[in-house]
Amino acid sequence: MGLLECASGASVWRGYDYYIENKVLSFKKEENGYYTATVSGSSKSPYMVELHLDHPRKSKCNCPHANGKRIICKHMVAVYFSIFPDEAKRFYNEAMVYEEEQEKRQELIYENVRRYVSKMKKSELQYALLELLFDGPDWQYDHFVRENGLDEEWR
Ligand SMILES: [Zn+2]
Repeated sequence: MGLLECASGASVWRGYDYYIENKVLSFKKEENGYYTATVSGSSKSPYMVELHLDHPRKSKCNCPHANGKRIICKHMVAVYFSIFPDEAKRFYNEAMVYEEEQEKRQELIYENVRRYVSKMKKSELQYALLELLFDGPDWQYDHFVRENGLDEEWR
């Protein structure tokens, strides 16, 4: 598995931000193939990163999140993107395409719901509304009660 696949989605995004903000101060390839790097983070001195591309989980970083654990942290991801800028572009473009697709899908679903509701009979609507009010969150029910002045005796 590649390094990005081993990282959580949040770490990849935070790592991408670090990369864009030029937080990777230096990196170099060592003789035995892995990379060492320094990344500026929240502590005063920069974090030391060791990146093993063949075995991502062997990678090391002395930040509190990853130190001593087999975790791919944002600092490692930032170094990875610094070594492979094309991968950073690819990640960003794919994320944008995905977001666009999700938005289109949401619009389609919304349109379907709108059409469906417009064709519902009054009795169906009443039933659906009551179901939403009783099964939905309390604030929604309370809002409905207040908005329609239903918290007083029925007249
Ligand atoms: Zn780290």
